Amino acid sequence: MGWMCKTCLNRNAWPFGGGNLIRIGVLALQGSVEEHLKMLSNLQEVRAIPVKTLSDIKRVDGIILPGGESTTQAKLLRDFDLFHELRDRIKGGLPVWGTCAGLILLAKNVINEQAHLGVMDVTVRRNAYGRQLDSFSRMVTLPPVSCNPVELVFIRAPWIEAVHDSATVLAKCNGHIVAARQGRMLGTAFHPELTQDASFHRYFVDIVSQAS
Ligand code: GLN
Repeated sequence: MGWMCKTCLNRNAWPFGGGNLIRIGVLALQGSVEEHLKMLSNLQEVRAIPVKTLSDIKRVDGIILPGGESTTQAKLLRDFDLFHELRDRIKGGLPVWGTCAGLILLAKNVINEQAHLGVMDVTVRRNAYGRQLDSFSRMVTLPPVSCNPVELVFIRAPWIEAVHDSATVLAKCNGHIVAARQGRMLGTAFHPELTQDASFHRYFVDIVSQAS
């Protein structure tokens, strides 16, 4: 067997660690919720939980903020009184992965707009690639995530204009930053849940299992 990155090694080793399921929540207010839940349900060591209430937020080990419409999601977070609890848990170390609109929710700076949760040291530009028609996908090699090329699907996506402080660039596409990591926070401008490849979900589960 040749060299394999940690994610692929873990994939071959699963199920590991004596059977305690890792509870991964998906914020279930709007957007690509079902797709993330389906992807997670294929991972043996994970219990996938739709998050709609305060008590849901309290019982997950990590949470995914799905793609959709960031302004709508931010409004719903406030309407359902989840905003502060979610922000406080993330600030307290709850592992989080924002995909597309979810990345926008996490960012401390959103160009020309108000930030939302404002927890991750990145500056994002909404709808950076243009309109819905300008959606596209690319195969990219991302060694920390998988040894094989992974498909990145962009739908009316933001890009990351800059990373600050301890945030680091995880992936670039066509010269723009499209994924970043800051400790237990992961942000991707694209949608791994719309592909057949669970590498990013495994990568996040790995972050969560190391934090738990
Ligand atoms: N354009 C959306 C926004 O700005 C994000 C799109 C997506 O999540 N696919 O919120």
